[in-house]
Amino acid sequence: MRNVIAIDGPAGAGKSTIAQALAARLSLPYLDTGAMYRGITYAAMQAKVDIYDTNALAKLARRVELDITDQSIFVDDVDATSIIRSPEVTTNVSIVAANSGVRAEMRAQQRLWVEERGGGVVEGRDIATVVFPDAILKIFLTASPIVRATRRVAQSGGDINEIAEQIAKRDKIDSSREDSPLREHSDSLVVDTSDLTVDEVVDSIHTAYKARLQQ
Ligand code: C5P
Repeated sequence: MRNVIAIDGPAGAGKSTIAQALAARLSLPYLDTGAMYRGITYAAMQAKVDIYDTNALAKLARRVELDITDQSIFVDDVDATSIIRSPEVTTNVSIVAANSGVRAEMRAQQRLWVEERGGGVVEGRDIATVVFPDAILKIFLTASPIVRATRRVAQSGGDINEIAEQIAKRDKIDSSREDSPLREHSDSLVVDTSDLTVDEVVDSIHTAYKARLQQ
C-alpha cells in the first residue's frame, strides 16, 4: 500500500519512539503491531491457554477481539495498555508470535486496520518483508546491544545484564522462527540509531519519505 511507512527492527532499537514521532509529524495513523502479539499473549495467559499448544493458541487469536489505537489496546474490552508491557507477557510473547495461525490472523487484522485508515506508520518485525512489501518507504532500525539494553532499563527499569539477556533471547527467537522472521528487506533503508537523537532519526526518515513521494 502506497501510504505506508514500514519500520522493522529488533527490540529496543527505538521503533516505537521513532514511529510515533514520525506519525505525528506526518499526521498519519500509527500502528504498533508488537502490541497486538502482546495482546494475544496476555489473552492466552488470562484464559490459561498453553502457549505451546499450536491449535488452541491459533483458535484463541481468531476469537479474541483486539481494539488498538495510537494510545491504547483493549483485549476483549479490557484496557490492557499497561499490562501487555509486563515482564510475564514480554517473556512469552516471542513464543506466541512464532505461531503461524496467530501470525496469519494478526497480518489480516493489520492490513484491515491500515486499509480502513488509508495508510499509516506501521512498526514491527515483518512489516516490510511480509505485511506491506509494497510500502512506500521501508526502514530497518538497529542499535548496538548495549544501547538497546540501556534504553530499555531507562524506560522500564531492571538489571542491565538481565535485560540484555532477555532482549538477546527474544531477538534470537524472532529472527530464527520459520514464519516471517525478523529480517531486513532488500529495499529497506537501514538506520543505526545508536549515536543519533530521536530528531536526527526522524529527520532522516522524513527526508527519505519526501524523496520517495517524488519518485
Ligand atoms: O515490538 P515489541 O517488542 O513490543 O514486540 C513484541 C514481540 O512481538 C516481538 O518480540 C515479536 O516476537 C513479536 N512481533 C512479531 N511481529 C511483529 C511485531 C512484533 O513477531 N510484526
